[in-house]
Amino acid sequence: MEEKRRKEWADYYYKWVEDNWSARGEKLDLGTTKDTKRPYLKQIYQDQSPEIVYIKSAQVGATERMLTEALWLADQYKENCLYVFPTSSTMSDLVQTRVDEPINFSPYLLGVAGRARKIMAKQADKVGLKRLSKGFIYFRGSNTPTQITSVDVDMVVADEVDRMLQSSVPYIEKRLLNSKRKWSRFGSTPTIPNFGIDLYYKDTNQQEWHIKCNHCGVWQHLNFYENIIGDYDENTRKVTNEAIICSKCKGKLVPYQCEGKWIAKKPENEKVGYFIHQLYAPNVNLKQLIRNSNSTNEEVLTQFHNQDLGEPYEPEGSKVTEANIEACKRDYRIPLKEEVCYMGVDVGKVLHYVIRGENRILDIGKVKEFSDIDRLVQAYQPRAFVVDALPETRKAIEIVNKYQGRGYICYYSGYKEMRTDKEDEQLKWIKADEHKVNTDRTISLDYSLGEIIHQNIEMPKNIDDYVEFKNQVKALNRITRLDTKGNSISEYVQTGDDHYGHANNYARIAKQVFIEMTEPEPELMII
Ligand SMILES: [Zn+2]
Repeated sequence: MEEKRRKEWADYYYKWVEDNWSARGEKLDLGTTKDTKRPYLKQIYQDQSPEIVYIKSAQVGATERMLTEALWLADQYKENCLYVFPTSSTMSDLVQTRVDEPINFSPYLLGVAGRARKIMAKQADKVGLKRLSKGFIYFRGSNTPTQITSVDVDMVVADEVDRMLQSSVPYIEKRLLNSKRKWSRFGSTPTIPNFGIDLYYKDTNQQEWHIKCNHCGVWQHLNFYENIIGDYDENTRKVTNEAIICSKCKGKLVPYQCEGKWIAKKPENEKVGYFIHQLYAPNVNLKQLIRNSNSTNEEVLTQFHNQDLGEPYEPEGSKVTEANIEACKRDYRIPLKEEVCYMGVDVGKVLHYVIRGENRILDIGKVKEFSDIDRLVQAYQPRAFVVDALPETRKAIEIVNKYQGRGYICYYSGYKEMRTDKEDEQLKWIKADEHKVNTDRTISLDYSLGEIIHQNIEMPKNIDDYVEFKNQVKALNRITRLDTKGNSISEYVQTGDDHYGHANNYARIAKQVFIEMTEPEPELMII
């Protein structure tokens, strides 16, 4: 019997998992048994399509699914896998608790890992590298890009892709170039709309788990607003009478006791995608969900949507909206010349510039050559102008040198660069010297975008003619996530081109450089 099962492992990955894998010492529920409480997992474990995307709530078993397949591939096919996590430290915690423990618990896995250990000596035991039989799994943090670009593999897994160092993400799939198999698995709880996992998922057949009400027979995909009830007391924050109900007949439902199936919303799409919702998990905490949904704290609400519901969410004030721009409109037209002005230039394939006065936008545009920027400087005579130092550092230096005391190249070098050792000095958000200015990307964007959100800058009445400017300023979204130590980190991610957003930021930085060079008093943070 056991020998027969063993021969099926290569063809049936879920049987390999059933026979060998455990979590906290217990066999996994893969949705295959009669008394399963996670029937939605059955197809997920039996679907090994080349490209799969999982958008999900927290704690629904997606990491387990992706981890086990990586190890199965190494063991059964002797092929290699790259498994990427947001940071190296979350990765090593994961490997120790979620990989090493199950291996030690399984006589078979311990055997194949042990043989690998003998062949490779200490190499096989390094956190970050696992060998089962003759295949390798490379566990990597997205924050160490060189470790990602250095391996060629047959399968890549990106676990929590929305929380990764975004500049590393495009390199993950490239690791498949030399493989015949070319399998990829992307999974994440979402953050904001049109970014990361939300974008990947939109490109798939978008499967949702539907259940059939055992009272009235209506098929439905559970959603928090139609299927969850409960009484919430605002004063005590106590929740009573909570339940999952049918959206049609309002009868109480226990999801895993209902007949269920995956239904594709976009069957015409070739890529495979699953939306795994916490409401189907047997351990869902309805009281907590209802409490979180009633919170007035924007951070709790964001986590409620992202982590509990698995939905992308745009927190209030996290980006410039059309309404914000509309509210900044005043009765003047651009281009407009004023005696006092500042300029910012974003450098890319073309040069995007924004010229502003103390508190209003004066000109917006893009040009091809640095000589065009030179002409603009001569025409407008800005008090200060700031040019993106990258990627054309030499040309940027050339033009700022021509206008000493007014021209600056800018690096987004981070908060540390600006910190001063002197305790009596307040924190400044820029650090300027002769012709260079350093700032933090997030803090400076907080200032320049905050001006628009809080109507501290004026926009011309013909701003609607500058569609690209509006779209690119709106494309910068502030997201906050927790690092491994539980500290929250904020950063702006882009949901489209953002050149004008940065040109506008450099113009704001130019104003700040002028202020600090003439009257060096730091001002208070606005946002
Ligand atoms: Zn019903």
